[in-house]
Amino acid sequence: MKTDVVIVGAGPAGMFAAHELATKSNLKITVIDWGPDVPKRKCPVIIYSYCSKCKPCKIMCGVGGAGTLSSGLLNLRPDIGGNLKEFVSENEAWKLVKEVDEVFVKYGAPQEIYRANTDQVESLMRKAAAVGIEFVPIPQRHIGTDNAPKVITKFKKALEQAGVKFILETKVTKINKSEVELENGQKIQAKYIIVAPGRIGAKWLQEQAKKLGIKTHPQPIDVGVRVEVPAVVMEPIIKIARDPKFRVYTKTFDDLTRVFCVNYQGFVVQEVYGDIVGVNGHTLLKQKSGNANFAFLVRVELTEPLEDTTAYGYSIAKLATTIGGGKPILQRLGDLKKGRRSTWSRIDRSNVKPTLRDVTPGDVAMALPHRIVTDILEGLEKLDHVIPGVASSSTLIYAPEIKFYANRIEVNKNFETSVENIFVAGDGAGLSRGIVVAAATGILAARGVLKKEGVV
Ligand SMILES: Cc1cc2nc3c(=O)[nH]c(=O)nc-3n(C[C@H](O)[C@H](O)[C@H](O)COP(=O)(O)OP(=O)(O)OC[C@H]3O[C@@H](n4cnc5c(N)ncnc54)[C@H](O)[C@@H]3O)c2cc1C
Repeated sequence: MKTDVVIVGAGPAGMFAAHELATKSNLKITVIDWGPDVPKRKCPVIIYSYCSKCKPCKIMCGVGGAGTLSSGLLNLRPDIGGNLKEFVSENEAWKLVKEVDEVFVKYGAPQEIYRANTDQVESLMRKAAAVGIEFVPIPQRHIGTDNAPKVITKFKKALEQAGVKFILETKVTKINKSEVELENGQKIQAKYIIVAPGRIGAKWLQEQAKKLGIKTHPQPIDVGVRVEVPAVVMEPIIKIARDPKFRVYTKTFDDLTRVFCVNYQGFVVQEVYGDIVGVNGHTLLKQKSGNANFAFLVRVELTEPLEDTTAYGYSIAKLATTIGGGKPILQRLGDLKKGRRSTWSRIDRSNVKPTLRDVTPGDVAMALPHRIVTDILEGLEKLDHVIPGVASSSTLIYAPEIKFYANRIEVNKNFETSVENIFVAGDGAGLSRGIVVAAATGILAARGVLKKEGVV
């Protein structure tokens, strides 16, 4: 079979690449995805790893890609979920965010944007800045769990009407120059290939890049803890921003430490990656807790001799898993400050009741590197000036929480790799970490193709 452009992956990056090509050219476009179409995408468990024997996880795989069908929260800033300003000018970056947003709205995303009251935001920014903390206000559009399947279905239908062909429930096993190979042995020849396999396909994309001689670069990881406090402590901030983001540079090491993924009235959950265990947080629609939790993470970037941040993060998680006896570690902040381990009797006496009990009370300082622990303690002290009560002795600390990102595939400014006519986009290529930026990199890769065709 022959086509002009093959797009691997029907996530935001792949769908927006298809949209850009279909609306601006007459090229024949084929999108291939390992997962199914929207109606068949139901699955209770997220499987992050990709292996040849695995079935595709239906949360991560299929039309719409990962996440789009869960909450579908669009962060309408070019520097959240990646940073478009690394690739284009600031002006162009904001324009791309607007373009992505307009497409989602065209296919049924709600009209209203969640934007905090300007006076309150300014006052919070001032309060934060006074202690060296940056508060990052983010306009957000919430597609919503119920609405997301409808939006993605309409989007796909419009692409089909524009001539885009979808091949679903089919894994691409190999990328060659001007050709992809499918798991059923079929080969598709294409003048251009855009590879956008998301986080689930990141490892596979690394293997393909290695085979093709395309360079890749490790990305920084985020290492830290999940902090749990009474919901009332977060309430004043939540009234200003639903998912507030703060960036703190710490005193001793000048490390970037940030508040991420706030779950007001939410729950801390275990996250298992093969033989390592960590934590995450979520909120449920029907069930509410009396607590709020957030990730408090330190950015770790390594240079020579060890650049492989994933290996470093994995070894930290492995140590924490060993210390916790196969479970995450839980400690009261007061115990961490005093250098003593927490016990269930100390935790049960505390006024914050843990929402995750399948943990081992212990000592976070035994599990995480000294530098990370120092950053967390200093960062929380600073944050306490903006969110009073957050650094109280009874605050609960769960460890480890580690965010790994895909290695970045080396590309030129048109998102083309060193192999001519092979382009990459999205999370799997280490170019994004959220829906909007992933979609924008898809547009940029498509524009790279269009430039070669002399269209733009
Ligand atoms: C549970 C969850 C909730 C999230 N919520 C949000 C949110 O609210 N807001 C936000 O901004 N971000 C969110 N994210 C992150 C967001 O979903 C991703 O950043 C975004 O989807 C990345 O887009 P992408 O196109 O690069 O990759 P993906 O969306 O991961 O899509 C990649 C596609 O490629 C396919 N694929 C992979 N390998 C192959 C192969 N070999 N052959 C064929 N197909 C292949 C996969 O099946 C998948 O459909 C969430 C993520 C998760 C897991």
